[in-house]
Amino acid sequence: MKRIAIFGSTGSIGRQALEVIAAFPDRFSAGLLLAGSNAPLLQEQIGRFLPETAGLAFPPAGYARPAVARFLQGPDALEQACELDGYDAALVAVVGVAGLRAVCRLLERGIPVLLANKEALVAGGELVMGLARRTGTPLLPVDSEHSAIFQCLQARGNNAPAKLVLTASGGPFRGLSRQELARVTPDQALRHPNWSMGRKITVDSASMMNKALEVIEAAHLFSMPPERIQVVVHRESIVHSAVEFADGALLAQLGLADMRLPIAYAMSYPERLPLPGRRLDLTALNGLHFERPDEEAFPAVRLGHEALRLGGVAPAALNGANERCVELFLAGKLAFPDIAELAAAAMRRAAGVALTLENALAADAEARAYVQACAKPA
Ligand code: NAD
Ligand code: MG
Repeated sequence: MKRIAIFGSTGSIGRQALEVIAAFPDRFSAGLLLAGSNAPLLQEQIGRFLPETAGLAFPPAGYARPAVARFLQGPDALEQACELDGYDAALVAVVGVAGLRAVCRLLERGIPVLLANKEALVAGGELVMGLARRTGTPLLPVDSEHSAIFQCLQARGNNAPAKLVLTASGGPFRGLSRQELARVTPDQALRHPNWSMGRKITVDSASMMNKALEVIEAAHLFSMPPERIQVVVHRESIVHSAVEFADGALLAQLGLADMRLPIAYAMSYPERLPLPGRRLDLTALNGLHFERPDEEAFPAVRLGHEALRLGGVAPAALNGANERCVELFLAGKLAFPDIAELAAAAMRRAAGVALTLENALAADAEARAYVQACAKPA
């Protein structure tokens, strides 16, 4: 029995992870459930999965403590949860740079991390990878593209991959021009054609900043220089990413768009579980399409490569600025194209500072302040 701690249990990834646990009750249990502010859903999850520990970072006024052996409450619930025992692996599925300290602490303690929270790797790349290496602690990708690459690499033998191909759906605005993108609304950005996800990553998919973050994530996870990571738009979201080898062989992982597969693979690796659900029928497909991203309309897609070349805390600044931009855009206070523009400017300003945990968090804060100061009303 593997006891999984879920950091972000009421989110899109957290809920799907609980579906996997529910489908394999003799393999997994939920040792700890931690959420941000969704008290009613957390309550329901506690009743169903009976974790030893639960936590709520931002409880509503008058919140009554649920019936669990241990309960964490308040903004540092996430950090406290990382100090506890009672789980064998932690699925980090909170959103944003808030996950960085947690991921570092879990790795330091030798607790395997199942990583959905890409922002931690973006902001703290070498730090996080260094900790995983030094302590020999597994760090398994949950992001679908990185899981796909990780799955393809199981067939590598002694061969280093020559190139990584990250696929991108293109989001709801694929095909729109720069001028058209200047007028899009938060509601339109939140309507993703293929995936149902949290609000922040859905906006990132619309701007294609998500792919920039994923380029940085892939570079760290798989030790690949930016010039050997290619982004390809693939609107069907069937090919989840691919790896090219020296002889030109391109290995890809295909499947229906369902995050339960990468979540379950990270939970059960190296074993594969008999997941319930539909299977991909190749004969039912109406073709698969691949094209270059439109960098003119979606300049954010290039920023991951640039951030990696700048190095140091530049990726942390890019990420922090983007998080603030997305909040402002969703609040109707920033035009959509300004997300990429302000995030790029914040990133370039941060170049030249070496990466430490404190420097990354300072660059994150500084980048948010910069965005706040520059933001013109939408
Ligand atoms: P979400 O907004 O749906 O869920 C986030 C969860 O984290 C919620 O349970 C929220 O309550 C909790 N949370 C947020 N801040 C917290 C804090 N400070 N302390 C404790 N809990 C906190 O987001 P999501 O779509 O599930 O995404 C989670 C992460 O996974 C993100 O980093 C995202 O980029 C990544 N990811 C998501 C998907 C997807 O399909 N949703 C795919 C790939 C990667
Ligand atoms: Mg992804």
